[in-house]
Amino acid sequence: RAKLDGRGLFRFFEPEMDARMQARRQLELDMRQALARREFQLHYQPQLNLETDQLTGCEALIRWRHPERGMVSPAEFIPLAEEIGLIVPIGEWVMRQACRDAAGWPAPLTVAVNVSPAQFKSDRLVEMIVSALATSGLPAARLEVEITEGVLLQESGRTLQTLHRLRDLGVRVSMDDFGTGYSSLSYLRSFPFDKIKIDRSFVSDLVSKPDGEAIIRAIAGLGKSLGMTTVAEGVETAEQMHRIRAEGCTDVQGYLISRPVPAEDLAALLARHRARPTPSRPGARP
Ligand code: C2E
Ligand code: MG
Ligand code: MG
Ligand code: MG
Repeated sequence: RAKLDGRGLFRFFEPEMDARMQARRQLELDMRQALARREFQLHYQPQLNLETDQLTGCEALIRWRHPERGMVSPAEFIPLAEEIGLIVPIGEWVMRQACRDAAGWPAPLTVAVNVSPAQFKSDRLVEMIVSALATSGLPAARLEVEITEGVLLQESGRTLQTLHRLRDLGVRVSMDDFGTGYSSLSYLRSFPFDKIKIDRSFVSDLVSKPDGEAIIRAIAGLGKSLGMTTVAEGVETAEQMHRIRAEGCTDVQGYLISRPVPAEDLAALLARHRARPTPSRPGARP
């Protein structure tokens, strides 16, 4: 009887597992061809400085226009790309394209590029970035590298050395998704980041949870003491922005300012913002 049940379970799960493995294998095959077929593109999402109401720069976010599946979210393919090492060539394409695009933006707008842990394992990361800057003509000071704590979790000596080499070039370094990891706080001690990006889960807690404000205020205060810019991610409503401003964050990024837009729409977005800046103070008239 037990044997029968066991066989039943086996039969039930096997095709499902099989389908999952096959989907993964297909994703891998498609991803291997996507670069050559030019299916990746970059969208850009601006950041707003709350003191000046000026846009300071944009984050580059990869998009995959799959021939059959349409737009595939990075959340669906970046983890697999990291696992199988494909993030190294994909990340190189992102870096070169982002520098090329940003070189055409009005100074001093910066571009922020997400760099994943697997890319830090490659010996060529610094060389590749130097080459991307040189080829594009983008000044190093207008490039920001965003890392998550996953980068610092791995063997730290060489990673820190890489971060310092980037810093010596004049590239800025941001801590992404701050507060979601196990020891975000101790990482702030290990490297002098230029910018802390407060994870958007804290921003959504701001209005909905009683202690939401205390956490944002504490991170903003920490950033201020350490001389780091603090950006609140995922700001969607005017109320969130006003409260974030009151708690002392210096910058915001989120749908309220703009969704990520294709590179070719950015000039229009910047022009619109110059003509009519997003007011970050309640009642302010641009
Ligand atoms: P991230 O670096 O934390 O990027 C911010 C994510 O939040 C983006 O999702 C952005 O579209 C989304 N977002 C921005 N504002 C709002 C908002 O107001 N509300 C909500 N609900 N979401 C908002 P996206 O583009 O889907 O990217 C997801 C993640 O994929 C990124 O998180 C990053 O970890 C990774 N990623 C994206 N592009 C790249 C890349 O070129 N290289 C690497 N290594 N990772 C990338
Ligand atoms: Mg990021
Ligand atoms: Mg983030
Ligand atoms: Mg993230």
